[in-house]
Amino acid sequence: MSKPATEDLNLYHIAKAQFDAAVPFTTKLEGWRGLAEWLFRPERMVEVTLPVEMDDGYVHTFTGYRVLHDSSRGPGKGGIRFHPSVTEDEVTALATWMTWKCALADVPFGGAKGGVRCDPPTLSVREKRRITRRYIAALGDSIGPHRDIPAPDLYTDAQTMAWVYDTYSMMHPGKNNLAAVTGKPLDLGGSEGREAATATGLLLVIQHLIAVGGLPGFNGLNGVTVAIQGFGNVGNHCARLFSQAGAAVVAVSDVAGGIFDPNGLDIARVEVHAKETGSVVQLPGTKPLATNEVLEVPCAILIPAAIETQITAENAPRVQAAVVVEGANGPTTPGADEILQQRGITVVPDILANPGGVVVSYFEWVQNLANTSWADEEVARLLEEKMRRATDVVLATRARLVDGFERYQAAWAAVRPDDPPLPRPTLRIAAHVAALERCRRVAESRGVWP
Ligand code: GLU
Repeated sequence: MSKPATEDLNLYHIAKAQFDAAVPFTTKLEGWRGLAEWLFRPERMVEVTLPVEMDDGYVHTFTGYRVLHDSSRGPGKGGIRFHPSVTEDEVTALATWMTWKCALADVPFGGAKGGVRCDPPTLSVREKRRITRRYIAALGDSIGPHRDIPAPDLYTDAQTMAWVYDTYSMMHPGKNNLAAVTGKPLDLGGSEGREAATATGLLLVIQHLIAVGGLPGFNGLNGVTVAIQGFGNVGNHCARLFSQAGAAVVAVSDVAGGIFDPNGLDIARVEVHAKETGSVVQLPGTKPLATNEVLEVPCAILIPAAIETQITAENAPRVQAAVVVEGANGPTTPGADEILQQRGITVVPDILANPGGVVVSYFEWVQNLANTSWADEEVARLLEEKMRRATDVVLATRARLVDGFERYQAAWAAVRPDDPPLPRPTLRIAAHVAALERCRRVAESRGVWP
């Protein structure tokens, strides 16, 4: 049965376990001794101490991080999160996933991530602004348009990115600094489509998977039941877009709890209620769900779109969905992955499901560098192309791994005779392999400096 007491929830260890599962299937990674370790290790980790004067005059000292995981394919790219759980390990794992995500989505960036350990709901707008400014000032030239480009993540948004831009620009006068940060407001060099991009991309991946037969049993989204954990940027837009696409969004949740309606929620009503009351809970006419119960409701598609390590070995046996689509980064633990696979539940992994945000961030960066702006139809068309290609690459990679499984198994046993048998190639393994092969090719052609 499950192994709740012993499961390791350290995010960096989870990222490593996912990486290790992909290495045996990745061409030449083991052949070139030491390359796997080089690819996994973060390039640079910065920790900053941030004294910030709070509204009551007290000086609170926060801790911030920025990790650049890899810059061989281009400058670092990744969000900034404000959250109590922020640690060096968490930020490093998230930066690592950004490297694979950018490689898989084929945008010319490496991976990075940043965060400040704080509790956003308790902060005033002015306190949040002061934390942002102090953090960006402290990072100095470790960020920049050709070095490492931040964007929104948990509890940060376009307003936060406007402060990031303003602070960076004050420190670099006389230059076009718009490309130093993405996810900015539209009036300040932001891109059409950026806000809903992660959810839009996720929907495109699911639609494409269904269209090419990658999700057996699905013919379309009409009437398909969907449950969504999280009602932030990703969860809220997913709820709206899936219901517009004909799906029945039967459950949504946020930190306060969840709501359920087997006939499908009216998402416009949920949005109004959430805006008025600050939460989705207690919407009249819906059944209340306890925190995390949303992960266990009967549905066809479950979208964890909140935070990491939500589906674990403890609750995975109770998941009732046919497909889990990772809107959040790292919501499923390796223990849960194994259980879901045994139970025949497909997991569409984060690095394939949620790169829509960083893809449109890339479009924003290109527009900023060229001092231009694109129409939303253009952004939508190019996003669709990127998401479809990434999906096709993962499916083709998985087919290759499944076909050659015995060969990979024998080759690995020859190198590591004491290792357990290789896992069956999942979409997560295939996505990692596809990303790793792109990174490996770049490392190989650039060579090791000096
Ligand atoms: N924070 C988002 C992610 O995890 C977006 C990053 C970006 O746009 O750079 O993918």
